[in-house]
Amino acid sequence: MSLSQEILSILACPRCKGPLEQVALPEGFGCRACDLLYKTEDNIPNFLIDEASPWADQRQQS
Ligand SMILES: [Zn+2]
Repeated sequence: MSLSQEILSILACPRCKGPLEQVALPEGFGCRACDLLYKTEDNIPNFLIDEASPWADQRQQS
């Protein structure tokens, strides 16, 4: 099991407590239920709900 999979099994969305999906571009963790992307900055995931971006917007750019 890679480290990221291990982290994913522990992490839950801070808003809905649902599962998160790892996203490569931009790097971070997405919640489909909330349609929010929690970005990773300097290798540190930012799970502040206020600083998360709408995931749909991020997908359209990539
Ligand atoms: Zn959520």
